[in-house]
Amino acid sequence: MCGIVGYVGKQKAASIILEGLKRLEYRGYDSAGVCVLQDGQLEVAKKIGRVENLTKEAAKHRFTGTTGIGHTRWATHGGVTDANAHPHVSSDGKIALIHNGVIENYGQMKTFLTGKGYTFKSETDTEVLCNLIAYHYAKESPGAGGSRFLESVRKTLTHVEGTYGIAVLCVDCPGEIVAARKASPLILGVGEGEYILASDASALISRTQNVVYLKDGELVHVTPTAFFISTLDQADVSPVVDKITWSIQDAELGTYSHFMEKEIFEQPVALENSMRGRFSEDGSTAQFGGLNLTAAELRQIDRFLFCACGTAWHACLVAEHLIERFARIPVEVDYASEFRYRNTPLHSNTLFLVISQSGETIDTLAALREAKRKGYKALAINNVVGSTLAREADGGIYQHVGPEIGVASTKAFTSQLMVAAMIALYVARMRDMSFSDGVQYVNALKGAPDLVRKALLQAPHIRAIAKRYAGYSDMLFLGRLSLFPLALEGALKLKEISYIHAEGYPAAEMKHGPIALISEKCPSVFFAPNGEIFPKIVSSMQEIKARKGPIIAIITEGAELPPGLADEVITIPECHEAVLPIVSSIPVQLLSYYIAVERGCDVDKPRNLAKSVTVE
Ligand code: GLU
Repeated sequence: MCGIVGYVGKQKAASIILEGLKRLEYRGYDSAGVCVLQDGQLEVAKKIGRVENLTKEAAKHRFTGTTGIGHTRWATHGGVTDANAHPHVSSDGKIALIHNGVIENYGQMKTFLTGKGYTFKSETDTEVLCNLIAYHYAKESPGAGGSRFLESVRKTLTHVEGTYGIAVLCVDCPGEIVAARKASPLILGVGEGEYILASDASALISRTQNVVYLKDGELVHVTPTAFFISTLDQADVSPVVDKITWSIQDAELGTYSHFMEKEIFEQPVALENSMRGRFSEDGSTAQFGGLNLTAAELRQIDRFLFCACGTAWHACLVAEHLIERFARIPVEVDYASEFRYRNTPLHSNTLFLVISQSGETIDTLAALREAKRKGYKALAINNVVGSTLAREADGGIYQHVGPEIGVASTKAFTSQLMVAAMIALYVARMRDMSFSDGVQYVNALKGAPDLVRKALLQAPHIRAIAKRYAGYSDMLFLGRLSLFPLALEGALKLKEISYIHAEGYPAAEMKHGPIALISEKCPSVFFAPNGEIFPKIVSSMQEIKARKGPIIAIITEGAELPPGLADEVITIPECHEAVLPIVSSIPVQLLSYYIAVERGCDVDKPRNLAKSVTVE
């Protein structure tokens, strides 16, 4: 969840690292730090709070060196203090380390090292790892130069239980970094006469688009002129240099106030990109390049099991609705974090699918590994090319929406809904769906970006509503069928960025408990689109109104509600069932966004949250 940046080259490392950290801040940001190797010393600046604070702190140092590492921390072990911020330096002053992840057996290591005279300034697991590297470094034969440094890291890691993405400096090795990963992302950027290490491509894209994605269990040894990759058990690895397909502009705000706002308004184009090249020539079904399943294998599937976390889990619930409705195949949805420990019985014709924007969500990865261990074909829907999930899955579908920087997912969510709708179509057309229904479905999906454009035109109206509702402390979101997951998502979005307590329910469940919360102090947001269930939703609204609950109704253009029933009305265009969840996302995204802005919240960096959850 934290951000890692490392630099070896000819430029001053500190400013490049600080710029990279700024771009990584969205991943976790309770404190930040930088360490530069210069004049035979490891010079460190670190500070709690934003990278801004670190930049001020760094200005007090004279950073001149061209080798350095930097970190934004998301605390797991030890409070948010300057001392616990990374980088950590070993008590003998030889080794500096930044770390993303958790060292589970750090207690034993600490006892061992304390017995050997090592001392600790922080409460972190990371500082223990740093000192263990120093211990092995001191034991390695001094004549071995750079490889002594590499081998001491390698040896240390063989003792580690837990997860890590690390970058290490050694005071005796200017121009060198050793980095390694296990379950935490790490990328090496190969620039012109320089190397940049990062946990996320956005931190290095301003310097190079050529990257090597490190795999779990690999170490990279960067020197001024070359880099070498090897495994924990000392096997050499030939690197594959990939090209990042997006550019620095995609990771910048432009004229928007927040990344979340930018990403909400990017959705029409994002949806077009998710669909591009994915419809058959006859326009009656979807097609996917990377599923790695034959049509015959797919026809054998008699059950889907989806796993994900957070917003992606809501996308799975929509997938459940669409696949069951159109393809008539049973679908089960589980939280990835539960699935991995629950020992769910799997049947041989089950297709296992996971969804994760980043492709690095640790619980989702663990669920995928568990399913694969049990011998199942496991597919992944994710947005980041080259992510761990993409590499470990048997096949999958990329979302192609470009980098999503706002912590609260918007464009990645609607693109997951689009991919889910395409999967439902694809398997439905292999079974009972007719050619003409398929054509109609495809045309509906192709029309989704324009409907989203139309829904976005309501932004000024929703902003005005947000001003009136920003002062409440509780809110309910209610929807039915494919919009029940949207009620959950609407509530999650509001909680995440505005800190208003919110809950999502199927509208008719109100009377089985949550209606007790209703009063003039608790507004309800209703999804009430046209359809056979519309009168039932109107009845639920009446029940709320009778108890003085304010109502914000999201209805289809042209639909009518009984006079005076809703306090606020937001409209969405009429749309096909497969597109309805996508279009319905827009008003709740905008509502949460504007409410959070109205409350003065830091929308792109909500408290306690980080973009991709890489710790358990
Ligand atoms: N476990 C480490 C700490 O608490 C690293 C946390 C992170 O990934 O930022 O310092």
